[in-house]
Amino acid sequence: MMDALIRCIECNEIFNMTQGDTSPRYTWHEGEIKEEESDDRDAFLQKHKGHTIEKLTSLTPPISDKPYTEPVKTSFFEATNGTKRFLIKRWRDTIEQPFTYEIIDGRLDFNHGKIGVQTHAIRKQLRAEYDPSISEEQINYFINAIHKEAEKIDPATLMVSAEGETPLISYYHLGDATLERILIRCQDTFNHDELELLRNFMREHNEYDGVMTVLVHKEFAIKPVRESEFPQTSHLEQRISLHNR
Ligand SMILES: [Zn+2]
Repeated sequence: MMDALIRCIECNEIFNMTQGDTSPRYTWHEGEIKEEESDDRDAFLQKHKGHTIEKLTSLTPPISDKPYTEPVKTSFFEATNGTKRFLIKRWRDTIEQPFTYEIIDGRLDFNHGKIGVQTHAIRKQLRAEYDPSISEEQINYFINAIHKEAEKIDPATLMVSAEGETPLISYYHLGDATLERILIRCQDTFNHDELELLRNFMREHNEYDGVMTVLVHKEFAIKPVRESEFPQTSHLEQRISLHNR
């Protein structure tokens, strides 16, 4: 997608060279289809003729809170020229237009988000798969046990199993230790055979975006960059050196 991201150092403007830049556009003109040479690449190079340009490498995928399937949206990503990091805003107004890119001040900042249990989906799947000998109270108890164990998990320790509908939503496997602790919580409420059913159910649906995987919805913000390029690192170093004294 990002074939070559070019930055004019003097103007701090960027352009993304893609294969589509030099392809002609067709217009209807006085009863005829006209082929127009449309060369956005030449326009950029013409504007910045004689200026020093450099190539940037993307460091992050384009981040947006809109679904992947939404074609007209604003995204943000970070790129580097090898020494400096840039935050880049990418957008377009209509689906026919190429993307516009602009360097903006700041850094992308993510929180780890909150873990969500797929309560309704688990209940529905359990009802679809199991005989009615497992009571509604037992199902509630099982779901409650999942919630209690999920609350204790640090989202940063989880393994992604599938991506959600936006770059900020992901599904995560529950670890084996968590599955075991859920079963231990259920020991007094389910008999041996029922516990085996639960064990198999959890294993079977703990893949991809299965009902036992948990959803994490992250949020992002654009944080200002202070005097240093990597303020977090330098602040951390300061803190460490103070502790050492
Ligand atoms: Zn320029």
